Amino acid sequence: MLDAICRYDETKPITYSVFKFQKLPDGDIEKYRQALVCPACAGKAYYRKASKDGKAACFGSRYHQADCSEFKPSPAKEREEQHAIEVNRLVVDSDAMIIDFSRAAKVAKAKVQPKADKATNENVAVNSSADITPAAVKADLSKSELAIAQPELVIDDDKAAAQTRIATQGLEKLLHSLLRGSDLSTSDLWVYTDEKYRWRAKNLFVNFADAVPTDNGAPRMYWGTISHTDKERLWLNPAETKDVGIPIDMFSSSLISRFGLQERRDFEGAGIILFGKCFWNKAKNRKIIQLWSNDVSRLFISKADENE
Ligand SMILES: [Zn+2]
Repeated sequence: MLDAICRYDETKPITYSVFKFQKLPDGDIEKYRQALVCPACAGKAYYRKASKDGKAACFGSRYHQADCSEFKPSPAKEREEQHAIEVNRLVVDSDAMIIDFSRAAKVAKAKVQPKADKATNENVAVNSSADITPAAVKADLSKSELAIAQPELVIDDDKAAAQTRIATQGLEKLLHSLLRGSDLSTSDLWVYTDEKYRWRAKNLFVNFADAVPTDNGAPRMYWGTISHTDKERLWLNPAETKDVGIPIDMFSSSLISRFGLQERRDFEGAGIILFGKCFWNKAKNRKIIQLWSNDVSRLFISKADENE
């Protein structure tokens, strides 16, 4: 994407070419980068600066409409599309889903990933480290419940429903499907974040743009795009909103080793999903999203495509 529209001043949107944008003073870049949108479909966009080893600066967006002229297919994007299709199928075909946080432990490489993922295998997989069994979920689902905004404490029940279909899915595919606009974010599907709590998907998955501090610090799965980090790499700033910050200083070394985020540029335009709580800072002018227990297994970052 060579152009992006800056809506920093809503009354006077300015179209920047990436060449013009990268020559702006650092302060202006920091100010404007969270106000960028795609010139063709108005999807939220990000700016990625040039790398030391010669990769050009670029604009990009993880939110292009499928028919947007700026949306250029690439192996990474095709893979994200596959994930979105797979998760949509799961939403339709399953009665419940268990989030397998251990599945996100390794970053899959787009180039070596086999194209046809066997969704059926994954959907029946039982992961021993997930601390939750499909049998327990089955027993739980045999009770009929209304949709609730708060997580629900699961109480054991012997009456297992024979035909219950329970899917297991990792954070990477969930993130890609949300970024590509799957039905997950509006679904009534029961989602288990651990053996104790389940949520309706539509209440659990929250884009950064919609993040609001919750009563009692109840957690959610927050997701979106990273615009940039601060200079000291203590914070992540989402592309979707200017009033949310995600502190990473407690686990920044893990981010380097797990997701290959070596320099500030690696964060720019990356997709992110994390289980955390949202609360106001002391001055009540910024919302903080804190990773739950600083446990990096409950976070996944998907670096932006270099071919953008
Ligand atoms: Zn677009």
